[in-house]
Amino acid sequence: MDISHILNHLGEVREHHHGAVAPPLVQSSIFAFPSVADMRAGFTDEYAGHVYTRGNNPTVAILRQKVAALEGSEDCLAFGSGAAAIAAGVVASVRSGDHVVCVAKPYTATRKLLSQMLPGFGVNTSFVDARSAQAVEQALLPHTRLIVLESPNSMTFEQQDLAAISALARPRGIRTLCDNSFSSPLNQSPIAMGIDLVAHSATKYLNGHSDVIAGVLCGTRAMLRDVFNGPYMNLGAILSPHDAWLLIRGLRTLEVRMERVAATTGKVLAFLQAHPRVRGVFHPHAQANPQLNLSERQLRGASGLLSIDLDVGSVVAVERFCNALKRFLMTVSWGGYESLAFPVCAVFPADSPLRPAGGVPLSLVRLSIGLEAADLLIADLAQALAGMGE
Ligand SMILES: *Cc1c(COP(=O)(O)O)cnc(C)c1O
Repeated sequence: MDISHILNHLGEVREHHHGAVAPPLVQSSIFAFPSVADMRAGFTDEYAGHVYTRGNNPTVAILRQKVAALEGSEDCLAFGSGAAAIAAGVVASVRSGDHVVCVAKPYTATRKLLSQMLPGFGVNTSFVDARSAQAVEQALLPHTRLIVLESPNSMTFEQQDLAAISALARPRGIRTLCDNSFSSPLNQSPIAMGIDLVAHSATKYLNGHSDVIAGVLCGTRAMLRDVFNGPYMNLGAILSPHDAWLLIRGLRTLEVRMERVAATTGKVLAFLQAHPRVRGVFHPHAQANPQLNLSERQLRGASGLLSIDLDVGSVVAVERFCNALKRFLMTVSWGGYESLAFPVCAVFPADSPLRPAGGVPLSLVRLSIGLEAADLLIADLAQALAGMGE
């Protein structure tokens, strides 16, 4: 299906709403029934009908239909955060005694869910360097039920061969879940590569305006019915109709935003890779990426998240670089209209030695490329690099 049609029209039945071009925001917690028989029917399958907004809501349903179409999945559930979407997908896939295999450096909330919370419920996880599908295969145990992937991951952009890993999981009856936030549905389609569940932090590219926290989980109707009747309804970390409405608006520009981000990122990468004070550039399409072949095969376009390893001798120089940036706002998150810088050293004490912590060097600064003009961003990076000292 044409992407612009999905973003502009799919799921919006305008003739039911006086032809209103923007979709109605159904800000209602409950939906009334004309008869007891209708109410009874509503209760028999809450996944299919409208009873209560913790289950279904017409505005949220428009968003779900669009994201499912973008991912090429049968259905999608919308959550109050990306962390909630991932947690629901995981919790619905395992029970006490099961084993999980997860990529080595997943998003923090994913790591803590698997390493700190689930062991208390009898579910243990092996974290493996999943750049090699063979390493994933070797980590599988007879009771492995789930493989959690994040390709690429969000600080150093290691990728997993999604087709190869799903091919070894499927015949063993092991479910796969992939966090696809980095690529957005436009640059990578895990469902088409055999992945079972695809999660996004919709806070990032899907919304794109740094004003909503949201998550989505895509998969088959059968799997999502289980998620719906389990963690979705009973943990209740749902998306509000108003946030769904904002997300539908954010999605309108997803395609043009991603095109702009790809073009600007290409120019920023070229500048950074040629700069003598940049020791390394991490991005799936960076020249030095040893997984460049996989990037070409698995990704359609470039996303705008990258990291640079500054050639400095101290955390003080990293701080000078970041403090000097004028066009990049310094904060967490990414994927909005505005460019951002996230220095890894900000989460460690100022006098920490400049060596890798958790596999990531403290001289690393993650940049999220927004919609500003490429020349402005490059000039800003150039002046900050020139003034950072040793
Ligand atoms: C931000 C992020 C999440 C968590 O999403 P929230 O919307 O912040 O809960 C999960 N995975 C990745 C890769 C992220 O960047």
